[in-house]
Amino acid sequence: MTPNPISPTIPLDSDGIHHGFLRLPYSRDDSAWGSIMIPLTVIKNGDGPTALLTGANHGDEYEGPVALQELTVKLKPEDITGRVIIVPAFNYPAFRAGLRTSPIDKGNMNRAFPGRPDGTPTEKIADYFQRVLLPMADIAVDFHSGGKTLDFVPFAAAHILENKANEAACFAAMAAFNAPYSVQLLEIDNVGMYDTAVEDMGKVLVSTELGGGGSATAKSIAVAKKGLRNVLIHAGILKGEMQIDPTVRLDMPDGNCFVFSENDGLYEPMVDLGEQVSQGDVVARVWPVDRTGIAPIEYRAKVTGLLISRHFPGLIKAGDCAAVIGLKVG
Ligand SMILES: [Zn+2]
Repeated sequence: MTPNPISPTIPLDSDGIHHGFLRLPYSRDDSAWGSIMIPLTVIKNGDGPTALLTGANHGDEYEGPVALQELTVKLKPEDITGRVIIVPAFNYPAFRAGLRTSPIDKGNMNRAFPGRPDGTPTEKIADYFQRVLLPMADIAVDFHSGGKTLDFVPFAAAHILENKANEAACFAAMAAFNAPYSVQLLEIDNVGMYDTAVEDMGKVLVSTELGGGGSATAKSIAVAKKGLRNVLIHAGILKGEMQIDPTVRLDMPDGNCFVFSENDGLYEPMVDLGEQVSQGDVVARVWPVDRTGIAPIEYRAKVTGLLISRHFPGLIKAGDCAAVIGLKVG
C-alpha cells in the first residue's frame, strides 16, 4: 500500500520528552513546497502502555486542546511508565480556522476514517492515525464538545460494542475519566468515525462531549484536565491516586433521544442543560423570523430523561439538532 506522506519531526519511540510536529507536505498557492505542521509531543519512559491523546478532532472544540497543551508542559518522563503521544489539534487546519471541518477540503475528521494516503489532507491525517499511531496505542482519549452549534452537559462516553470484552474495558476507562456525566451510547451511523477505527482495532477508547458554543469554560476545562490525569493513572502510565467524584450515568440507546427541527426560525429553548424532561414535554419552540402574530412550532421529547445537549445559536434551521435527551441508568 502507498506509504503515508506524513513524517514526524521527532522520534516516536525514544525515552524522554520531545516536542515537534507531524509534517504533512501540502503544496499550495502561498507555499510551493509547503507543509502542514501538526503540533506533537511524545513523552516516554521505558516499556509500558501507550496512550494516544487527541483534541480538536473537530476544530472548534476547545477543552481538549487546552488540557493537552498543559499536559505537554507539565508531564515529565519520570512521572510515567510507558508512553504518551499528544496531538492537541488532530484536524489542525480546521483548528487554525476555528471551524468544525477543514477549510482545505471540507473534511470532517470523524467521518474520514480509515483515510487514504493519496487523498485530501484530512484523509491523509486519518490514514496516518489508522496505520501508524493507532497500532502503537493501547488506549486513546479523543476530546469533543459541541463546537459552535451545540452545547452539552460535560460527559465522557463509551460505546456499546459487539466485542463485550472491549466494551467493558472502554466502560472502565470512561468511569476512570469520571466526568460529571457518563454516557453509554449505541452509535447508529458509525462509518468513518475515529472511534470506530480505535474500537475495531480492539483498543480502548474514551471520548467526551464537554461543553460547546465554540468556546470553553474554566469548569469544562477542569473536567478535561482531571479526566486526562485519571485515565493515565487507570492505564498504568501515570503514578498517583485517581480523583473520583459522583457521576450521573446516562444511556442513549437509539434515535428517540434526538429532537430535530423541521423549521427555520428563532430558537427558544424551553429546558436548560441538565434539567429533567418527561416524554411529551416541549423542549424547544421555533418562532418565525419574518412576521409577528404566528404561534411557534413546538418540539417535544420522545423519551423521559435529562437534557444533555441543545442547539446553541439563537437561530435554527430545518434539520438542525434542537435537543438531545439522555435516559437515566439505575
Ligand atoms: Zn466533535
